[in-house]
Amino acid sequence: MGSSAVTTDTIAAISTPPGRGGIGIVRLSGPMAAPIAAELVSPRQPLEHAHARVADVLDSNANGPESGRIDEAVVTFFAAPNSYTSEDLVEIAAHGSPVVLEFLLRRALELGARLAEPGEFTERAFLSGRIDLTQAEAVRDLIDAQTLTQARQAASQMGGALSLRVAPAKQSLLELIALLEAGIDFAEDDVDVAPQAEIARRMDELRPPLTALEASFSRGRIVHDGLSLALVGRPNVGKSSLFNRLVERDRAIVTAAPGTTRDTVTERISLGGIPLELVDTAGLREASNESLEEAEQIGMRRSREALADAALVLVVLDATQPVSAEERSLLAGVGGRAALAVLNKCDLLKTTSLADEVGGVPALATSALTGEGVPALRERILSLATGGAAAEPGMLTNLRQHKAITTSLDALADAAKANAGGIPHEMILLDLYRALWALDSLTGQTTPDDVLNLIFSTFCIGK
Ligand code: GDP
Repeated sequence: MGSSAVTTDTIAAISTPPGRGGIGIVRLSGPMAAPIAAELVSPRQPLEHAHARVADVLDSNANGPESGRIDEAVVTFFAAPNSYTSEDLVEIAAHGSPVVLEFLLRRALELGARLAEPGEFTERAFLSGRIDLTQAEAVRDLIDAQTLTQARQAASQMGGALSLRVAPAKQSLLELIALLEAGIDFAEDDVDVAPQAEIARRMDELRPPLTALEASFSRGRIVHDGLSLALVGRPNVGKSSLFNRLVERDRAIVTAAPGTTRDTVTERISLGGIPLELVDTAGLREASNESLEEAEQIGMRRSREALADAALVLVVLDATQPVSAEERSLLAGVGGRAALAVLNKCDLLKTTSLADEVGGVPALATSALTGEGVPALRERILSLATGGAAAEPGMLTNLRQHKAITTSLDALADAAKANAGGIPHEMILLDLYRALWALDSLTGQTTPDDVLNLIFSTFCIGK
């Protein structure tokens, strides 16, 4: 673990996506990176740290005068330890022809490199201590980002925002541990180095920043994972039209016939940078209705499933119609979930004042036809999605990180209880070390190998 892990082999991978492209990059990292690269390409000038060099890609079967080169590439060399992996690293940017890239990779493997595992370049950066685990996770999150907001969040974490945020609490915890350890050493001299009240005060100070960090997960996880939003309601109330308004293009087919949306239609949209999976469901009707066609029934089942799975629910109602018993039961059914009642077709109404609540669910008026109320609906969806929590630097974005902080807080609570109960410092220290271990696991200092392997296996090859 950590910087003690000495890697002796050289890894290679095609770091750009499969298929043809403008350019494609083969990456090598390890002690043999430069010597292997020297067999693959012939740079016009000698390789120099952090300098790009134009080079010929050499054909290993070169016989005639014309067959010496198969491509022209740009080669960049980074000398250890000032590279992404902290090892010697070479990037060969060739034209993005799969045959050339695969040729380069095959040659590199023949010359002694090993095919890199997914995320292994980043894993080496982590194992060398150049980045911590939250930063490594951010690399993956940045590559996986689907919205710019997600990319910004990942970039900030890649810069160490989360580690920085947890650092002061960790420092205070270390100081408290040192104080108690000293207290044990002096115990026989009858010097009360750490009175109970002082320990309690310090423990109390530790909790708020960690509690705030823990709370950041409610927004962080949404920025990271996105949310699903289901549009439900009776046929013909305008769900598909509203869906199209929200996705801003014609995705679902809109006709005046009830139940056109036989199946669910799913679309990903970005709302304020948060990815929303929008599910347009078939109209919910009484399942016992004999007139339902089989396809409609399948759609109904799916829509109930979508409703059950969705984190957010829009119950779409026709503002010109009284709320039916069916719709009331639907509104009652979303109870507890983040939901909005959307009074659609408000353009057909003479009055502009509509109820701001239907069946206990907050309501707002829209017209999918004119677009009226749609921006307000977006705003409401966004504030429901985030629970009103503002974006902040250094949010927790995944369960692993969240678990580390809650474990630390639990251990601190145990320590506080032990202290209040006059338990010997040796015992309190056990709780405090547990709290420290959990904080260290956040940044990867005490993360078991199998967990690390699991994390890096979710990366793409070549990163
Ligand atoms: P769904 O069955 O709930 O998906 O409803 P649709 O989106 O298919 O809409 C049913 C009919 O209502 C279509 O003819 C739409 O053009 C019409 N419609 C939808 N929204 C509005 C609206 O806000 N105002 C008006 N006047 N008509 C609408």
